[in-house]
Amino acid sequence: MAKPNLEQTLIVFKPDAMQRGLVGEILTRFERVGLRIVGTKMLAPDQAHYETHYEGIGKLKTRAGAHIFDITLEMMSAGPVIAMVLEGVESVALVRKLVGTTEPKSSAPGTIRGDFSHMSYGYADNTGKGIPNLIHASGDPEEAKQEIQHWFADSELYDYEALHEKFTR
Ligand code: ADP
Repeated sequence: MAKPNLEQTLIVFKPDAMQRGLVGEILTRFERVGLRIVGTKMLAPDQAHYETHYEGIGKLKTRAGAHIFDITLEMMSAGPVIAMVLEGVESVALVRKLVGTTEPKSSAPGTIRGDFSHMSYGYADNTGKGIPNLIHASGDPEEAKQEIQHWFADSELYDYEALHEKFTR
């Protein structure tokens, strides 16, 4: 990982992606741009784990308030998730671009959230629901480092060569 501009980033297939059977469809998008999977596991994290993820690191309660924080944690606790670490050239911003914006309604066609979901902030507010937007992705390189450390032990991350990297990095 000593090469400049190479980054690792965390993605989490949220319970709605798991329960809709969309893991394969979504993962394909990351693989086909040439990102390499360096760690993966299925797990059902407890509240404390999500509190650290969404507030300790992500500052969601501070940014969006206690209600949004609570419904997001409730949504994340609706079932198991698959967490992955992906590596590639400036991969944090690349993965965010592929994922789209937080609100599915305004996520561009071609992005994961834009192609597989359509819910709006307005609908979420009026129904008191969280926004099931399929996938979590680290917001910036510093957040990625903290999240990877929170979700994975060093021994769960692997180094190997993907043959396509002759052309993709
Ligand atoms: P992102 O996941 O795009 O990085 P945030 O970190 O701001 O976005 O929020 C984390 C998650 O909390 C979102 O993906 C979404 O599931 C939920 N969320 C954020 N804002 C709202 C909102 N206004 N209403 C309902 N759920 C929200």
